[in-house]
Amino acid sequence: MQSVSSAPFYILSYMRSTVFLIVLLVVPTCMGGPIAAVSEEQWKLLNSSVHGRLHAAVPFARPCFAQTADTVFGEADQEQCVAVQATYTDPGTRAGIMGSFMNTEWETCQATSQQCLLDFLDPRDTNAFNAPQICAQGSIPSYFVDVRDPADVQASFAFSRKTGVRIVVKNTGHDYAGRSSGANALALWMHNLQEISYTPAFIPAGCSKSSAVPGVTMGAGVSQGQLYDFAEAHNITLPGGAERSVAAVGGYLQGGGHSALANVFGLAVDRALEAKIVTPDGRYLTASACQNADLFFAIRGGGGGTFGVLMEATMRALPQMSFPAVFVGLNATEKIEKEWMEFIVAHSLQWAETGWGGYITPKTGMIFANPLLNMSQAEQEMASLKQFVTTTLGATFSLTLQPSFLTFFNNFLLTTGVPVGLPFLTTSRLIPADNFRSSKKQAELVDTVIEVLDDSPLPLIFVVGTYHFKDRGGTSVNPIWRKSLWHVTSSTFWNFNTTTTEKKALYSNFTSQMNLLREITPGSGTYFNEADVHEPDSTASFWGDNYDRLVEIKRKYDPDHLLDCWQCVDSKGPDSEHFSCYL
Ligand SMILES: Cc1cc2nc3c(=O)[nH]c(=O)nc-3n(C[C@H](O)[C@H](O)[C@H](O)COP(=O)(O)OP(=O)(O)OC[C@H]3O[C@@H](n4cnc5c(N)ncnc54)[C@H](O)[C@@H]3O)c2cc1C
Repeated sequence: MQSVSSAPFYILSYMRSTVFLIVLLVVPTCMGGPIAAVSEEQWKLLNSSVHGRLHAAVPFARPCFAQTADTVFGEADQEQCVAVQATYTDPGTRAGIMGSFMNTEWETCQATSQQCLLDFLDPRDTNAFNAPQICAQGSIPSYFVDVRDPADVQASFAFSRKTGVRIVVKNTGHDYAGRSSGANALALWMHNLQEISYTPAFIPAGCSKSSAVPGVTMGAGVSQGQLYDFAEAHNITLPGGAERSVAAVGGYLQGGGHSALANVFGLAVDRALEAKIVTPDGRYLTASACQNADLFFAIRGGGGGTFGVLMEATMRALPQMSFPAVFVGLNATEKIEKEWMEFIVAHSLQWAETGWGGYITPKTGMIFANPLLNMSQAEQEMASLKQFVTTTLGATFSLTLQPSFLTFFNNFLLTTGVPVGLPFLTTSRLIPADNFRSSKKQAELVDTVIEVLDDSPLPLIFVVGTYHFKDRGGTSVNPIWRKSLWHVTSSTFWNFNTTTTEKKALYSNFTSQMNLLREITPGSGTYFNEADVHEPDSTASFWGDNYDRLVEIKRKYDPDHLLDCWQCVDSKGPDSEHFSCYL
């Protein structure tokens, strides 16, 4: 996987010459809403307040298109087009480009079919970009501020308050619900906040000396991969998700943040010690359990892009650790899939109680880890799994000692990531422990999971519920996380030439298919960051009983409602003009 810093030279030069255009102080004619009324003088003032870091956002695939809509900046360029085609599905490259989003439907205005997409199956397919195709801005924000300090954010909020131009916060663009994009918006691009440091005895703001613990402080743009490398170099452990390019303290942290070790060590929100945030009311605040504790509670699960703009955060560092990991490689027929699912459902409660977690797929196997057991304990506990998968299912099995989280990640997760660079949707459900408790419940769960995931191109069971972890409170994720074992996800995708009617059908079939799991898990919910775009009863599903308190906090720090995003806390809802591109 390619990191941004190692992106090919031509991509970097493309970013400099085209993406990082000094903003053109002429607003193209097709921009709609308040942005069309912003005067040249107002843009100049903003640009000067942010020290010249106001830029036009250019769609990633722009160089491939000869024809564009009026709103699109940049040039057609054959050499740059070849570079875009070569990296079109590479998350590391995409994370470092403002006009690029991982799930590319959020680069498009789905309601009007305005887009600037390539064919992800073959980015050289000229049908996607030759005439009559035209490159349109879609949902990519018109302009962005390359944020380097809190004053940039304060100036942007002041600009938004005065002009009515919508602000969106964009980091890596991984969001599954389009919360980091938005047509006719001004984006705050967090990618270049890259500082990272280790403090062996970190005292969160306002707390006593006795609360000191090892902590790593990082800027909002630092990626999970950078964090894993940093942890390895400093002989500590910073567990994180299954994709290097996700920002460690952007949407991941603020929505929850799961990892293969979440069953034992909790979610990312459980290890947050402190955060520095510019709130929409213009203040730059330090929040911890001991200072601005309401804001700290809100950004530990209430979702990104809602309560303010997080500039940096400090996460608790765990000691360096080695741990056993299990790999099962399966090539499942229908019969094998059922037997496999029956076995794992029957054993899941016991595995959760002893500290196992990781990833399971109904058709291809599992990657499991347990930081609480030594190798002989793990061998003993996984003996029946080994026996079952090798003799009954004909699968491969390995149990190995992983010397660190980075090694575990590189051995098992580096090349198995979720695809990006295509219009990709996810839907999900948290499965509480109660659904595993009786043989009747187990049979019901097996049949339902198989049915729900049957047609999914990427059926994934994230074994990331925080069942074993002792919840210390203070977070705003749905409390059902603490009683859940599984986070079941299904997915679907489309391509550049899918029609609006087909997209609508995909959305609606997708949502109704997950209803089967919703029905057998009453009172449960799902993960805000990996939810259905049309999640039913979304506030209860994402936050449970925490929702009312989150709304109060939102109104306290954002009294003018400058930040709003799809299904976020206190959102104005689907009829708001901000969401006119959603289907
Ligand atoms: C390929 C892939 C793999 C993933 N793997 C995992 C995984 O293993 N575990 C897991 O828990 N999740 C995973 N996710 C989900 C991921 O956590 C979310 O998509 C998350 O929101 C990404 O955050 P981001 O800041 O990197 O992305 P963005 O799309 O840039 O931002 C996401 C949201 O956070 C807001 N935001 C970003 N930065 C800030 C900031 N500094 N201040 C305020 N708001 C901000 C944005 O406005 C937006 O609402 C994965 C997603 C993808 C696409």
